[in-house]
Amino acid sequence: MTQRGHFLFLGHQDLSGILRGRSVPAARIDEAMANGLPWVPANITIGALNGLPPDNGFGPMGEIRFIPDATARLTLGGHADGPAFDLVLCDARQMDGRDWSCCPRTALKSAVRDLHAATGLTMKVAFEHEFTVHGLNQPNHIAFSLSAGRVVAPLGQRVLDVVERAGFTLEQFQAEYGQSQFEISSVPADPLTAADRTVLTLETIRDTARSLGLRASFLPKPALDDVGNGVHIHFSLWEKDKNVTAQMDWLTERSAPFVAGLVAHAESLLPLTIASANSYARIKPHAWVGAYTCVGTRNREAMIRLVPRAAAADGANPNASLEYRVTDATANVYLALTAIIRAGLAGIAGKHPAPPNVQQDPDSFSPDERRALGIRALPATLESALTPQAQADASRWLGPDLAAAYFSCRRNDVVEAAPHTFDALASKLSLVY
Ligand code: GLU
Ligand code: MG
Repeated sequence: MTQRGHFLFLGHQDLSGILRGRSVPAARIDEAMANGLPWVPANITIGALNGLPPDNGFGPMGEIRFIPDATARLTLGGHADGPAFDLVLCDARQMDGRDWSCCPRTALKSAVRDLHAATGLTMKVAFEHEFTVHGLNQPNHIAFSLSAGRVVAPLGQRVLDVVERAGFTLEQFQAEYGQSQFEISSVPADPLTAADRTVLTLETIRDTARSLGLRASFLPKPALDDVGNGVHIHFSLWEKDKNVTAQMDWLTERSAPFVAGLVAHAESLLPLTIASANSYARIKPHAWVGAYTCVGTRNREAMIRLVPRAAAADGANPNASLEYRVTDATANVYLALTAIIRAGLAGIAGKHPAPPNVQQDPDSFSPDERRALGIRALPATLESALTPQAQADASRWLGPDLAAAYFSCRRNDVVEAAPHTFDALASKLSLVY
């Protein structure tokens, strides 16, 4: 790729979903691309309010290295008031180049390898991100309207210019339902590519909005009386070049145990896919999020929606995907995908039977009906999601070092959130996410 930036920022998404790193001037870009830069292990645990968890496990010791991946690089345009920046995503490795046990990007690579080794399956992933744009000049946000789409078009066009110069594009960019809420969706790709492009795209949106005097925020729940900013992870399972996700608008023999694993481990997935104290205010019934542990074809109140799309004459759904709806932008995207793959693999290993296809709002069942269907309400707060079982599963899925560091971050989030009202915390976190 042609070098365009005056600086190169070597970045790494930390355990609170925040991209952090350091930059070098143009003259040092080639060297930094080849050899990376040193980094401080404890930094991956810095929280959204910049606090370091007291029990982060690293303390002041140690050194790791950011090693850039040239395939995950783009150039953020020069602003009126600042130079062009290249941004490249990095693995965090040990100083001698070996894998580091706490690198989320490395954890995802190994989950993808294990999925293929154990099952022969590969996965394609696409993300939908909802976000709020502050500072737009629109008297009224009409949901899904052309007018709202036109108001945000200058931002959308500049974002597309940046990502297309880097060799990829977006599937959609549109107005959403909430106040000044918009949504982007990405094009399906292998899990690592999809995750990298998502991190690059979010940074591009934030950066480009700033250059236009706007502010883009992916905070999950900006206000209690408005809908949330969700992240939906669409994924499909493939046997060579055949999509084996769905058949006759329902799960197949290949996908059913994988999905059953997600439903069975829902409570352990949650702290890994929605990370902040603010996040849990979004997970409520009747908000089209999915507040219960269930899966349903075309059901937007289920935690997992099967999207069969068109069926072929033999009932095959060659374009089907599963939409995991209880994620948001406070999660580390690599760990969210790692956890989904690991929980799915646990379902396959345990030969879990297909879950029931829930065809109504799960909140409309009586508690007894839900119990009979094995449907449970998801934890309502971050604190209640941080159970010993969730940490034990995370330890198995991510390795004990990474899980311990991750849970120290989430416990610190609980402590840091405690003195704040909902609105006070939301306004602080809105400036971060
Ligand atoms: N805003 C909803 C959420 O928080 C999603 C609405 C939709 O289905 O697009 O996840
Ligand atoms: Mg949406």
